[in-house]
Amino acid sequence: MCIFCKIVKSEIPSNKVDENEDFLAFNDLYPKAPIHVLIIPKAHVECFQDVTPSIMAGLTSFTQGVASKLGVDKSGYRLITNNGLDGGQEVNHLHFHLLGGGKLRWEHQHDESHKNI
Ligand code: 5GP
Ligand code: ZN
Repeated sequence: MCIFCKIVKSEIPSNKVDENEDFLAFNDLYPKAPIHVLIIPKAHVECFQDVTPSIMAGLTSFTQGVASKLGVDKSGYRLITNNGLDGGQEVNHLHFHLLGGGKLRWEHQHDESHKNI
């Protein structure tokens, strides 16, 4: 059983942020932003490439609810899913990283220092 399936079954502890029958949100163990939550389907799906539109429909509204609960729905946040080897996916159970709680850097952002490039 994968590590996130064990978190779903509470065989491994986690700091839960929100959950319903089908989805779970919990804090990332190694946060990369003031808010760094992982959002997963409770059923094991390997990666984004394998997920069905119907799971994504539920995951979308669940994620919007998590953002509201965390108070970042208006201020903004970033959603990331790493897919497969080249995408840097380390845990092979579909998860979205929800990052927020401050202005997030974006490497390819066009700001004043890049305006002539
Ligand atoms: P990936 O690289 O697969 O997109 O992201 C996996 C994420 O899971 C990483 O950000 C890592 O910090 C987090 N993570 C790995 N193991 C655990 C764990 O046991 N508990 C929690 N809460 N997060 C974990
Ligand atoms: Zn799993």
